[in-house]
Amino acid sequence: MSTDLLASLSHNPLVKQLGLPEVPSLRRHRPGDPLLGGPVLVAAVGEGRFATAVTAFVEEQEQTAHTEVGEDKLYAAVVDLTGATTLADLAAAQEILTPAVKKLGPSGRLLLIGAEPAQAAEVSAEAAAVAQSLDGLVRSIGKELRFGATANLLVAAADVTPAAIDSSVRFLLSARSAYVDGQVVHVGAPVGTPADPPEVDAPDAEERPLDGRVAVVTGAARGIGAAIADTLARDGATIVAVDVPAAGQGLADTANRTGGTALQLDITADDAADRLLAHLVERHGGVDLVVHNAGITRDKLLANMTPDRWNSVLAVNLGAQLTINEALLAEGSPLRDGGRVVCVSSQSGIAGNRGQTNYAASKAGVIGMVHALAPRFAERGATINAVAPGFIETEMTAKMPLATREGGRRVNSLKQGGLPVDVAEAIGWFGRAESGGLNGQVVRVCGQSMLGA
Ligand code: NAD
Repeated sequence: MSTDLLASLSHNPLVKQLGLPEVPSLRRHRPGDPLLGGPVLVAAVGEGRFATAVTAFVEEQEQTAHTEVGEDKLYAAVVDLTGATTLADLAAAQEILTPAVKKLGPSGRLLLIGAEPAQAAEVSAEAAAVAQSLDGLVRSIGKELRFGATANLLVAAADVTPAAIDSSVRFLLSARSAYVDGQVVHVGAPVGTPADPPEVDAPDAEERPLDGRVAVVTGAARGIGAAIADTLARDGATIVAVDVPAAGQGLADTANRTGGTALQLDITADDAADRLLAHLVERHGGVDLVVHNAGITRDKLLANMTPDRWNSVLAVNLGAQLTINEALLAEGSPLRDGGRVVCVSSQSGIAGNRGQTNYAASKAGVIGMVHALAPRFAERGATINAVAPGFIETEMTAKMPLATREGGRRVNSLKQGGLPVDVAEAIGWFGRAESGGLNGQVVRVCGQSMLGA
């Protein structure tokens, strides 16, 4: 990984004098740290459905839940707008948010909870407009907040209970979501009830939310995949690390580090799905979480694109995921009830990127696949979602020319690249048994990049 020089100079007065962007240092999750970094404002406009449960959660975490903004600095502000149906309600929200953002500390969290606009439309056009307005509101707040603070919106369907948004509230308020900013996440009725759900009150439930779950990670020998394996193992999962035979040493290292098993497998091979599923049955008796992370780039302008470059990228990044997902959906597959599939897409698939027609097509295709398969996985009591990383500090991005790399790092609200662990934390959130309300979602881990937003 290359060093972010500007980040290392963030306290140097010269940075300000030269008008260079200040790069905040982001609070990230470390085992044993408290989930919340300080007092939280919990407010509601109208008949908010979640404020009471969020207040109870904050107090459970031994932090003060304020109902109004006072003199204290705030770690986070949660504003429940599920009951906001009129422009007067929206004005009331502004009166809460304006003083609240002034009190947010470094790496603070702003979380709005809103109603589904399509459901609000059954109340009135004004209610639907207000629900949709939160989208523009939260994205603008994200662009205004400083010092590593983030703003995100949870959109809760009418039949969603506080328990169904709990894992999302925990993630979006915690340091695990350091590089998730300006995102709108829809929560529906939960899918899949695992036979043996983790005890939420167990003392280490928050530290090891994936205890007892078996997780496959493709492309686990290095880079983001290795970080995903490490992070899921840290959170309690048993890892099945998959990579090509040529990556044997890195693969063995990941399996050893995480105490999991290694499977040398080219995911584009004709028998790849059969071999993967056989390994899962023989060595682990089933699977709870499948992370489709393996991916390649073969960049060329379309004018110079060869079928070989096109086909190899589409085969690894999309074709293999389609095939393995069909095998997971087939009757008798080892995917357990409460199963979670998480696909790694990319900002390139959303914004497009010069020289990456093959890669961007494959990564946009992943999003189309996730949307199409969400109802089918739901029928099996499982979910499928995607993360779309933006600029992440890896060997791949370290090889970029300096100007391109600097551009990629700075064109986001947090003024820096993300780390592989940031992608991994988002995958862990989708992977939790309690995250059954998230299905067919695409969450960008991009620090609210301006590209494609
Ligand atoms: P990387 O090249 O460092 O690692 C990819 C891994 O996938 C390698 O270990 C490779 O051996 C493995 N792999 C490739 N083809 C395979 C195959 N046929 N079968 C099994 N394994 C195979 O890449 P990375 O930067 O860690 O990226 C991981 C994922 O994140 C990819 O899907 C990538 O497209 C995506 N992504 C990365 C960035 C970034 O900034 N690095 C941004 C957006 C998306």
